[in-house]
Amino acid sequence: MKACGPCTLCCRVLAVGELDKPAGRTCAHQKTGVGCGIYETRPSGCRTFECVWLMDPEMPHRFRPDQTKVVLDQDAQGLRLIARCDPANPQAWRRNPMYAALKGYAADTWGTGRIVLAVAGHRTWLIAPREDVDLGEVDSDAELRVVEGPSGKVTVEVGMAGLR
Ligand code: SF4
Ligand code: SF4
Repeated sequence: MKACGPCTLCCRVLAVGELDKPAGRTCAHQKTGVGCGIYETRPSGCRTFECVWLMDPEMPHRFRPDQTKVVLDQDAQGLRLIARCDPANPQAWRRNPMYAALKGYAADTWGTGRIVLAVAGHRTWLIAPREDVDLGEVDSDAELRVVEGPSGKVTVEVGMAGLR
């Protein structure tokens, strides 16, 4: 069974509503070399979160989030694979081996209703097999309609509620 080891990236990259901790800011309870300073009483969101690397026994060590600087997350339905980056390192998703893996997953699932997103701060990109579409300041859980035109050009319509 996998363990987080020295990785604590989700404690910085993810928002924790119960603590009013925004995404991209190191949690005040994170202690270097120790981990969570309130481990026994940490919020339920922290207790239940597992990144995709931790959940997937087949995903190699080189994808551990402290190596890639990307926390792989997914929505509850498994329809969105989300590469969450530290806003201080917003292009981390574009580095290999992560980028090749995201492109490969996008190609394998294209047209099935599953999509791949990259997020850094408020900025979101759709990762499509042949291009990446900058969606601007859009929530990663926004309603998105992905359309591929006859020429292969991909456009994304964003539901009003998801615009920032
Ligand atoms: S990002 Fe994943 S591996 Fe790193 S601490 Fe969080 S759950 Fe563990
Ligand atoms: S409370 Fe603990 S587990 Fe939760 S984000 Fe802060 S340091 Fe991480």
